[in-house]
Amino acid sequence: MSEMTRTPIGETAQAVGQTVKISGWVQTKRDHGKITFIDLRDRTGVIQCVGYKKMGELTTESVVELVGLVKQRPEKMVNADSPLGTVEFDVQEYTILNPAKELPIQVDEDGRDINEESRLRYRYLDLRRERMRKIVKLRSDYFHAMREALYEREFTEVETPMLTKSTKEGARDFVVPSRLQPGKFYALPQSPQQYKQLLMTAGVERYFQFARCIRDEDLRADRGFEFTQLDLEMSFVKREDVMKTVEDVVKQSVKAVGGKLKDETFPVFDYKDAMAKFGADKFDLRTEEEKAAGVLSFAWVINFPFFKKVDTSDAAEVMDGKSGWTFTHNPFSSPIPEHEEWLLKGERVGEILTTQYDLVCNGYEAGGGSIRAHRPELLRATFKVMGYSDAEIQDGVGHMLEAFEVGTPPHGGIALGLDRHVMMLANEDSLREVIAFPMTSSGKTAVMDAPSTVSDEQLKELHLQIVLPKVAKK
Ligand code: ASP
Repeated sequence: MSEMTRTPIGETAQAVGQTVKISGWVQTKRDHGKITFIDLRDRTGVIQCVGYKKMGELTTESVVELVGLVKQRPEKMVNADSPLGTVEFDVQEYTILNPAKELPIQVDEDGRDINEESRLRYRYLDLRRERMRKIVKLRSDYFHAMREALYEREFTEVETPMLTKSTKEGARDFVVPSRLQPGKFYALPQSPQQYKQLLMTAGVERYFQFARCIRDEDLRADRGFEFTQLDLEMSFVKREDVMKTVEDVVKQSVKAVGGKLKDETFPVFDYKDAMAKFGADKFDLRTEEEKAAGVLSFAWVINFPFFKKVDTSDAAEVMDGKSGWTFTHNPFSSPIPEHEEWLLKGERVGEILTTQYDLVCNGYEAGGGSIRAHRPELLRATFKVMGYSDAEIQDGVGHMLEAFEVGTPPHGGIALGLDRHVMMLANEDSLREVIAFPMTSSGKTAVMDAPSTVSDEQLKELHLQIVLPKVAKK
């Protein structure tokens, strides 16, 4: 390898007349016998390189290092379609850093014709295509803009545990066996809900985290087991305060990455009105032209019912709602102030409205949150409505009730589904297009083979025994 320092390809236009070193991937090769043209790509750009005969040995997508002269192209050779179309690289020396064999999937097109299994099996190649590189960068830029918007508003970023106790978000838990305490299990967080509330007890006042949430839900086309939320929580706030802050952060971040918004002020709908008008609590307010232009149309929905009748076909709901009632969104929410009495008395359960606010965008749920019950009697009352005994309440959320007796400020927050946000910003229609290593629709990991079996030694150490279901004989 040459001792010269590497020049990013995107900066070669400023190095005309100089001999420099560039490195990257051979995007295309045209072998004309005596001379060989290659397009070399790195993260900053693509440049046409002209070399001598032996360079014909380079295979596409190999990683090479080139030393050569950056030249201005003659006027009539300028390629106006390419950002570096005014220059050319005259190769003097090349080194192959890692030769590429024939690729299992092609990376020079948008990839939509390739079956998804192959794309995910070779995701590290799939991510090389321009469309995917742009999405990876867009996601990073959007997260960066959000982080900036939150720091500007004096939020503190705090991480919460991944190995924890069940936090109810209406799904099954993924559990992790404890080696040191045989027979006991951790749950992976369905959300950082309880920890972020405890951070309010701790006096953080304004918290956020880019949180990974893990929920064992029945797989649907557009849903995986894990996803990324912007999770935040604020103290001494009312519903409207949180909505305003979130709206400002979202607007600022969407604009920072060049996204277009339909409304400068997000319209607010009552759940009842939304259901009457759209037949659903997620709706799309865009015109056909706005859809074609990739506009984002955000709106709020408020005044949801707190409880609903358990759907007996949903195992997680049956587990949560022992009385036949379960929460619609979040058991840690507070009802609207006018309905607190009903909740405390367990009356008119079906009529109690929650302080929940959902953010919808282009027909999808883009986030949701609420003002929380920060007094122990309110949280206890919610679990009572769902049919929990005192002992079960103590076992499930006793730690929260305790924290609510030592000075917990009124608080509320939200979680935004960032995979969805990026999907809409990128104008894609599948979440898998905007996650670097998503799962397949059948729950298999990208590239690596999980879930998979573990060794007998591991099972022994964990005091676990596998009992497979009996296969019915034909
Ligand atoms: N914990 C909720 C969720 O993950 C969001 C919130 O209420 O802050 O959906």
